[in-house]
Amino acid sequence: MIKEIQLRVTLQEEKQDNILTKKSAKFLHIDQKDITGIKVLRKSIDARTSVIIFNYKVAVYIKEQMPDSSAYAFNYKDVSDAKAVHIIGFGPAGMYAALRCIELGYKPVVLERGKNVQDRRRDLKAINREHYVNEDSNYCFGEGGAGTYSDGKLYTRSLKRGDVRRIFENLVLHGATEQILIDAHPHIGTNKLPKVVQNIRETILKYGGEIHFKSRVIDFIIKDNKIKAIHLQNNIEMDVERVILATGHSARDIFYLLHKKNIALQAKSFAMGVRVEHPQHIIDSIQYHCSSEHHELLPAASYSLVHQINDRGVYSFCMCPGGFIVPAATANGEVVVNGMSPSKRNNPFANSGIVVEINVDKDLPKYERFGVLKGLEYQKDLERLAFTSGGRNQTAPAQRLTDFVEGRLSNDLNDTSYQPGLKSAPLHSLLPKLIGGRLRTGFKVFGNKMKGYYTTEANIVGVESRTSSPVTIPRNDNLEHPEVEGFFPCGEGGGYAGGIISAAMDGERCAEAAVVGL
Ligand SMILES: Cc1cc2nc3c(=O)[nH]c(=O)nc-3n(C[C@H](O)[C@H](O)[C@H](O)COP(=O)(O)OP(=O)(O)OC[C@H]3O[C@@H](n4cnc5c(N)ncnc54)[C@H](O)[C@@H]3O)c2cc1C
Repeated sequence: MIKEIQLRVTLQEEKQDNILTKKSAKFLHIDQKDITGIKVLRKSIDARTSVIIFNYKVAVYIKEQMPDSSAYAFNYKDVSDAKAVHIIGFGPAGMYAALRCIELGYKPVVLERGKNVQDRRRDLKAINREHYVNEDSNYCFGEGGAGTYSDGKLYTRSLKRGDVRRIFENLVLHGATEQILIDAHPHIGTNKLPKVVQNIRETILKYGGEIHFKSRVIDFIIKDNKIKAIHLQNNIEMDVERVILATGHSARDIFYLLHKKNIALQAKSFAMGVRVEHPQHIIDSIQYHCSSEHHELLPAASYSLVHQINDRGVYSFCMCPGGFIVPAATANGEVVVNGMSPSKRNNPFANSGIVVEINVDKDLPKYERFGVLKGLEYQKDLERLAFTSGGRNQTAPAQRLTDFVEGRLSNDLNDTSYQPGLKSAPLHSLLPKLIGGRLRTGFKVFGNKMKGYYTTEANIVGVESRTSSPVTIPRNDNLEHPEVEGFFPCGEGGGYAGGIISAAMDGERCAEAAVVGL
């Protein structure tokens, strides 16, 4: 017999051996000896009061053998001689499109502008140390896409739980810890992600798929409203029948190319702001109601904040406990920040984007001349502003949080995890009022919600501009571009995902759509 039950375990109890067995037996009024196994289905922390509780959902196996099989079988086939689906971009969307093609019996041919994870590391070092951005290999571009050197938070708002679980189990198959199947807020960590990505590459190659690195797509050949061929930067032309475009939200050259070719695009609302960085111990003491070091069994604390200010949402985005702020620009001449954490989240800083919703229909009258690319151009201008005010390299403009809100230049800044360094800049007057004004009010409100959050010990760092795509590439019910047969916009770049898991799920869906009738 299997019984699913909820258990509450205190911090003190959590340390005890067999605590889940003991509690399950008591809860079910059975003998401990009759419990043959306990499978943890979900684990979350309730830290709303000073008595911290771990909430468990468990399946208790009573006089029954516990199975060790996963709910999903991944039936990869040899596709060496199968019909090809071309996939542009090897981020989460492209990777999961490729894996799904193999399950369906089609050969994925992946074209990726960046390098493999190992070689990509050198280019990340160059950004951090020499302030040089390789425009094909950086924190956004290269094997695994923007998801590789990230926090690896696996949160999604998608309601398709079945699909979500499938992706999680596939990540475990490729080397992620089983803990991600259990945690309420699972994350992999930037130190573990490259190996998972490499294992996915090896599966694709083993079953006969192709992956071409350093292969930037620069043109599409379309005849009679059908995609016929693609051009790569190294003068190679490839005939194609089905193309999944999974180039992410930073591939501006792709948006320009589609626009130039009069392929329909739509402007999309998005969000921009800054990244705020606190010492982690401040966030821990607020969230765990403790005065200094938090309990060893508790992870570095996170937070999620949102408030409506003058008709626009102001909210925390991609919060990274125990993490680093990273330079996420994809071209020289721009400064973009984002965040990542190692699996243990043991860096002494907590950072999070704090961003303001931008309504492209109402907020950008001066950019109307750019048509559907108005949001993209606004994003670019803000990134250039961060570049010039940061010192014309990857040093980022920054200000103490309290100075930003109170409108004065900071004489000095707090320590930071941001490797290229910070430069004091008057972000309160530099940022457009649309963003800066709302952020200043927002930080005060957040300080009231979390006592101790509004502190001179925090820095804000500019700019957090790549939260989601400023453009949608439309598609019809078959997930195909309505004007170009055989062309499937996919993942975050098309406007169909907002993170690793949703991009991966969209990749699978696009693969299923792309093989129909092939
Ligand atoms: C620093 C950082 C931290 C993040 N942390 C998280 C997190 O913790 N959790 C989360 O869910 N999300 C996180 N994200 C967002 C997440 O990474 C993206 O939502 C996700 O990667 C989108 O997947 P994608 O496959 O659609 O696009 P991408 O990951 O952007 O992949 C697109 C790929 O296409 C390639 N490409 C672009 N143009 C071309 C071209 N012309 N030819 C060939 N290839 C091309 C790129 O090199 C890239 O590899 C983070 C992002 C960053 C930058």
